[in-house]
Amino acid sequence: MRKFFYPGSFDPLTLGHLNIIERASKLCDQLIVGIVTNSNKRPLMSVEERHMLIEEAIRCKKIENAVVDDFSGLLAEYTSTNDITCIVRGLRDVPDFITEVPRAHMNRKLDGDFETIYLMADVEDTFISSSAVKEILYFNGDVSSIVPENVWKYIQEHNLGGKR
Ligand code: ADP
Repeated sequence: MRKFFYPGSFDPLTLGHLNIIERASKLCDQLIVGIVTNSNKRPLMSVEERHMLIEEAIRCKKIENAVVDDFSGLLAEYTSTNDITCIVRGLRDVPDFITEVPRAHMNRKLDGDFETIYLMADVEDTFISSSAVKEILYFNGDVSSIVPENVWKYIQEHNLGGKR
């Protein structure tokens, strides 16, 4: 069974993430979207909120072989415990590439048993990032064109604008 793992903060999930989830799910039998819970960044949403919203977006898109999990600790440990054959990452631009190269080498050093694959962001998604979403929200801006519909609805219902 080809089990792929797509890790990230997803704080919050954007249309760029969802595009990668949809495309990666077609390359494997099961895709696990892994929410990193031990990030140093101050989150906009709790892990539980992010988990629920990613599951909902996956359901709406009818992506049947994708599931959500939370994880902390070393990626290489998660992959070996869960029989992951491949890590998936999205690449938007050169800075993403520069961040990813040492990470991929280090992960292979820690556990040589999996590959990392990179999916190029769709051209219209290259400027989308969770940090841009947070920045716009801080000024009570409209992010409805860059996050999935359910995420935008949740942001509005929970008044997440104006927070950092
Ligand atoms: P991290 O903190 O691990 O970078 P993110 O949630 O920001 O977590 O991103 C998770 C993954 O999704 C990373 O591989 C990132 O490059 C990718 N990604 C983020 N935004 C986009 C986008 N707009 N299009 C494609 N991939 C993206």
